[in-house]
Amino acid sequence: MGKLMYSCEEAAKLSSRAMEEPLGLMERTLLGFHLMMCTNCPNFVRQLEFLRRASRKVPEALEKVPDRDA
Ligand SMILES: [Zn+2]
Repeated sequence: MGKLMYSCEEAAKLSSRAMEEPLGLMERTLLGFHLMMCTNCPNFVRQLEFLRRASRKVPEALEKVPDRDA
């Protein structure tokens, strides 16, 4: 923390993490800011969103299988 801009690598990591756990307010704000400034990351996030939406169709019981995305 303490930085006002994320690198693309940090933004990608944070986007992935956001699929698994809620981000803090600061993290979400900075990530959103990076996505506004960056041309590459929005594509990556869109892919993540697509995967997340796809995984929502999986019943909850299956989502808890640990090796689902191994
Ligand atoms: Zn970026």
